[in-house]
Amino acid sequence: MAIVAISAHLDDAALSASASLSGAGATVLTVFAGMPAPGFGVSLWDQVTGATNSAERQAERLAEDAEVMRLLGARGCYLDEREAQYREARADLDLDALAGRIAAHLTGADEAWLPAAIGRHGDHVIAREAGLRAARLAGHRHVVLYADFPYVITYGWPAFVTGQPASTYLDAEPWLAHELTAAGLAISAGTAGVVSLRPAGRELKTRIIGAYRSQAAALRLRGEDLACQPEKLGYELFWRVDLDGKHDRTRPG
Ligand SMILES: [Zn+2]
Repeated sequence: MAIVAISAHLDDAALSASASLSGAGATVLTVFAGMPAPGFGVSLWDQVTGATNSAERQAERLAEDAEVMRLLGARGCYLDEREAQYREARADLDLDALAGRIAAHLTGADEAWLPAAIGRHGDHVIAREAGLRAARLAGHRHVVLYADFPYVITYGWPAFVTGQPASTYLDAEPWLAHELTAAGLAISAGTAGVVSLRPAGRELKTRIIGAYRSQAAALRLRGEDLACQPEKLGYELFWRVDLDGKHDRTRPG
């Protein structure tokens, strides 16, 4: 089973679908892996995560990702698109041209995995939309959408994942359902494939998070964060989407 997973940034696919991508000879194609323009300086996010120069930070992140690809036994491929923090405006991006670049990597894949863009980060939405177009261009009849981690646990894991009732004053499922609806995806949250991470899977995910060392603290995934909330590492979710289905609302037009 040759999986090609589209990742918006240098960490998304590996953080979101570690179990499905590990040991399967997968390819991870990161869309926004480009370096900032010469003389760019330092972005706000990079300042928040302790960097003083965005070009140096992006080089660090590429090295972190290469380490993670080794942990997964996966092949990393990288497009040179600049992520939102390094570009002026979304208008710079031609979605069809991007889809064409992505499609070249999806031809021959058994499965195309794309971000669901839970949390609606603009780059994740672009990666999903271009990825859907690319999958069609490459002749795929279905795709798998992975739940973006850690966005997916903004309100914790929903009850249908944990098997435990929602707490009186916190229910993640309506929010998750709304994220999918807002994306125009005709799938319900509760139909997710749920991967329960066993101890070996949690250990791998812990190592992956540790390798993405420049991002882990800001994502609240430091060792102390995970020690306090080990359930963060409990699950990974995905949805299968039929691109030919009559209820497919992702089809353009
Ligand atoms: Zn991301």
